[in-house]
Amino acid sequence: MKKERIVRLQDLIGLLNRLYHPALAEDWDNVGLQVGDPAAEINRILVSLDPTEAALSAARELGAEVLLTHHPLIFRPLKSLAPADETGRLLFKAVREGIAVVCAHTNLDRAAGGLNDWLARRLGVAEAAPLAAGGGELLKLVVFVPCGYEGQVADALFKAGAGQVGDYDRCAFRTAGTGSFRPGAGTDPFLGRQGEVEVVREVRLETIFPRELLNRVIERMTRAHPYEEVAYDLIPLANRRLDVGLGRIGRLPRPLTLGDFAASVKSALQVADLRMVGEAGRQVVKVALCGGSGASLIAEAVRQGADVLVTGDVKYHEARNAESQGVALIDAGHFATERIMVQGLAETLGKEAQRRGLNIEFVEMEGEEDPFTVI
Ligand SMILES: [Zn+2]
Repeated sequence: MKKERIVRLQDLIGLLNRLYHPALAEDWDNVGLQVGDPAAEINRILVSLDPTEAALSAARELGAEVLLTHHPLIFRPLKSLAPADETGRLLFKAVREGIAVVCAHTNLDRAAGGLNDWLARRLGVAEAAPLAAGGGELLKLVVFVPCGYEGQVADALFKAGAGQVGDYDRCAFRTAGTGSFRPGAGTDPFLGRQGEVEVVREVRLETIFPRELLNRVIERMTRAHPYEEVAYDLIPLANRRLDVGLGRIGRLPRPLTLGDFAASVKSALQVADLRMVGEAGRQVVKVALCGGSGASLIAEAVRQGADVLVTGDVKYHEARNAESQGVALIDAGHFATERIMVQGLAETLGKEAQRRGLNIEFVEMEGEEDPFTVI
């Protein structure tokens, strides 16, 4: 019988880093491990929107060793750890009950295949692209390969995820040139002899990739490269990433009136009410959206010609601003536009864990409710 490998908290963090890299998070954010021992064994993970007392209790009842949330538990720097304040009380409880708390916040918002893509799918918005593209970092890799081996090295790089530019993949540039080196004592050179200068026809192979793939790209490249010592340059780029970013913008399959679209948002997000800015009879087809608080994206939605922006937490003057700029708004609430991450994250991570042979279970928290009630 095959012995199953023990899964540790650090395996879950590795999984999260791979899909929703912390570099995608806002500077002010605090994502990833909040409390817990990375070496601790884990079997079950409860996913919720907020790190509340109720969520920690639910984790304990379910026998989950980890609570995975969207909103961070530790957000402002702590001056002390005492149960007198809310954060301290929850941290006390988590430590006492041996429950680790991990979060994926603005990194999950920005990531391709993250919260805002789930929201777009839920609202029936197709061809969704980031509304405010950017975040994270692109790196350029330049590697020198002996002629005839550039194909296998390029293949390894592409398989590791390098060379993606928009909808184009396997993007690279090659120039031929002359490389030279002198193998030192104790070397086992692929070409040439110890102590003799070797001059070789080489290809300078260049491609780009997001920083979160760095370890994988370098590992696969060195494995595919015939040389004992691989010469390569890593160059940070100022280029903006277009595959990730805040909010999404896309199209409805067919135009709807704002009133009908608002009704479909209500049922898609299972909310009893929402707030709307704009004439109910006007047509909408180009939809911008941002889970949580996305009113700061009103100007970008207008600039890109959106008919409506769906988000939460819209304030009075922001609503007036949208009205005067002619873009409709649907405020379906911070909770409802983000709570969809519970299902999205549990399903995505469940599949990814299975693919990697990690024997862990993701459970969606039940009964989590919007703190607001409309009466
Ligand atoms: Zn939020």
